[in-house]
Amino acid sequence: MEGRWLIVLLGPPGVGKGTQGQRLARELGWHYVATGDLLREAIQKGTPLGQRAKSFMERGDLVPDEIMTGLISEALRSVNRPVILLDGFPRTVAQATALDRLAEREGWRVWGAVLLTAEEEELIDRLSGRRICPRCGAIYNLRTQPPREDEKCDRCKSPLVQRGDDRPWVVRKRLAVYRDETRPVVQFYRRRDALWEVDANADPDRVYERLKGQLGVVIRCQKGRESLQGRSF
Ligand code: AMP
Repeated sequence: MEGRWLIVLLGPPGVGKGTQGQRLARELGWHYVATGDLLREAIQKGTPLGQRAKSFMERGDLVPDEIMTGLISEALRSVNRPVILLDGFPRTVAQATALDRLAEREGWRVWGAVLLTAEEEELIDRLSGRRICPRCGAIYNLRTQPPREDEKCDRCKSPLVQRGDDRPWVVRKRLAVYRDETRPVVQFYRRRDALWEVDANADPDRVYERLKGQLGVVIRCQKGRESLQGRSF
């Protein structure tokens, strides 16, 4: 496959970006970057980045753009695979503009964004049942994707936890922040004709098939059957 490509996963909290993104990356050999995971890891380790980000995250607010662009710039520099799947970045128009600039500087091209959609009530319901493995990052849902053993990770057996920002009042704030700050990013990619939509109101396997359908051209290019040249924006 010619060039190195960035694909953005867009959508509100709880829509399944992490679950779907991790699976896609695992199956296709892509590199998966979730800015929320990077921040949570930094907080756990008590790094300066984590200390700066913590209070914003606990309130459900966005971490300032300059911190986030620094983080992404580092990720773009260190990855050595043909495709990076970005989950959780960009979340503001300023970040989307910065991504174009950083991608060019580091030798990547932005292919476009895939938007996962679902009703707000469904998202609130999913977030209240979400549990994550603090050790390996696996994501579960007590209702729709429960672990095999009672609240323990299937992969590494660590006790699962609820994210602090999945508590109801923070969830409402995060949904409001999504509406105000991130919806304009959807428009940003739609205007350049680089937005693909996937209805995520279905079980995870079904959503995964829909997502792969939308990403078909990238997957075929990777297998050498088509060229993505002429598709840079
Ligand atoms: P997520 O795991 O993607 O839901 O992100 C969890 C939290 O991390 C968000 O609510 C924000 O506080 C912060 N965060 C993650 N990515 C970004 C970003 N691109 N810009 C600003 N804040 C972010």
